[in-house]
Amino acid sequence: MDFERHFCEALDALRDAGDYRVFADLERHRGAFPRATDHGTGRDVTVWCSNDYLGMGQHPDVLAAMHGAIDRVGAGAGGTRNISGTTHAHVALEGELADLHGKEAALLFTSGYVSNWAALGTLAARIPGCVVLSDAKNHASMIEGIRHSRAQKVIWRHNDLADLEAKLDALPAETPKLIAFESVYSMDGDIAPLEGICDLAERYGALTYLDEVHAVGLYGPRGGGVAEARGLMDRIDVIEGTLGKAFGVMGGYIAASAALCDFVRSFASGFIFTTALPPAVAAGACASVRHLKTSEAERAAHQATVAEVRARLDAAGIPHVANPSHIIPVMVGDPVKCRYISDVLMRDHGIYIQPINYPTVPKGTERLRITPSPVHGPADIDRLIDALSVLWTQCELARRPMAAQ
Ligand code: PMP
Repeated sequence: MDFERHFCEALDALRDAGDYRVFADLERHRGAFPRATDHGTGRDVTVWCSNDYLGMGQHPDVLAAMHGAIDRVGAGAGGTRNISGTTHAHVALEGELADLHGKEAALLFTSGYVSNWAALGTLAARIPGCVVLSDAKNHASMIEGIRHSRAQKVIWRHNDLADLEAKLDALPAETPKLIAFESVYSMDGDIAPLEGICDLAERYGALTYLDEVHAVGLYGPRGGGVAEARGLMDRIDVIEGTLGKAFGVMGGYIAASAALCDFVRSFASGFIFTTALPPAVAAGACASVRHLKTSEAERAAHQATVAEVRARLDAAGIPHVANPSHIIPVMVGDPVKCRYISDVLMRDHGIYIQPINYPTVPKGTERLRITPSPVHGPADIDRLIDALSVLWTQCELARRPMAAQ
């Protein structure tokens, strides 16, 4: 086989479809979120698509904790968690995360992706006869974990309680069932009916596995996520989160009962056979979690900016998905126009919004996923709306009248 030719042809097909991914070559600036330099255009840009939702990746407490840890203990963990890589920073962070979610224990992984893949995959594989009921829009990391487990999977219609109930009902009563779902869905920003899912899980004796990756740090009085905000943490068996988005650093985790965490710790190859996170990363994440447990300021300012951006998009007639979260999907519906708008925003306006195309979202729903932060100011918002407005007209995209929204 001509391997090189195969690679090039596959990439050309992506380019032809407008789905080829181009990464911005960014340099973030310490303490200056959301500014960065784009080395592709040589421009200083304002980032409008970061998952560092609160700018905690530049927070002085987080940076100080990381510098302090490097000065005290050095760079890497030096091993897997099993063999010399469990440092005090990891233990402290797991304690902090268990407390955040009101659980007996927590278990750290190298990323949110790995935590879903390893924890969900291990539970599904090692609970004999387990059937996983997976929301249709679950993240790739959960899908891959379930696939890898080889457990039977039943997909229920996205956020549809009636469909979940029908699918639970169709399974034998004695079958062990695991319901896997997210709170805030990353591309549409909609939120699952958590309470109804808990009710069904209790009625059918199912284990619940909730991905709160896009919610931890952001919702709930201590940043425990949507489950905390809705008083449901004790009704959900496994809460999975990331330290790489609102907490601004890196890493993933589950929080659950001591026995469940010990079970995953003991059987999950994605936990056991990989080097532990650097202690400085754990220390930085720990500082971030601690800060957001007591500080409401970032969450309040974040929600205020989100509301302002939505109102300004409405006033300009630029269509965006109405949802109750902080994620603002501006719908373009065409991969080539989506990329074009993103390119011109970067090149001519110093605004960086990565286009979201297939396969991340279904074809025909290509979008700009805008993620405001507490530190995007009024002038940033003016520039964003003005630039989008000009490009909307230029690309002959439909506007929505206010009344239709
Ligand atoms: N779950 C969801 C819903 C996600 O959107 C993501 C990342 N985009 C992950 C898990 C993986 O988290 P991480 O980036 O920490 O690997």
